[in-house]
Amino acid sequence: MHSDCLFCKIAGNEMGTEFIHETAELVVFKDIKPLAPVHLLIVPKRHIRGINDLVDDDRAIISELILTARDMAKKMGVERSGYRIFFNVEKGGGQEVFHLHLHLIGGWE
Ligand code: AMP
Ligand code: ZN
Repeated sequence: MHSDCLFCKIAGNEMGTEFIHETAELVVFKDIKPLAPVHLLIVPKRHIRGINDLVDDDRAIISELILTARDMAKKMGVERSGYRIFFNVEKGGGQEVFHLHLHLIGGWE
């Protein structure tokens, strides 16, 4: 737990954020500034700065993030209409919160 990290605080239940889904390893919550009718963030509880910081032992958590995105798309009813999942990497890639998170956006007409 990094005490100055927003997503560590959210994942540690310190911000009162409502979780759409939670497992031992990750949490899912709504993005505060949604880019689409459905915009979820899928976030490992363990602090990892971003994609560049992944190591071989992180294979399991990365798989879980992606399989959870698949499940959340279904739960939110966008699995057939379509959606995007993406990681922003470092400032030039649009990353603003330096705790790994997978975006899921969809729900357009
Ligand atoms: P990124 O730009 O990839 O680092 O994404 C960070 C995302 O976190 C942005 O889409 C923000 O809108 C979102 N965000 C920032 N603070 C919060 C918060 N307190 N609760 C939910 N989402 C947040
Ligand atoms: Zn963190």
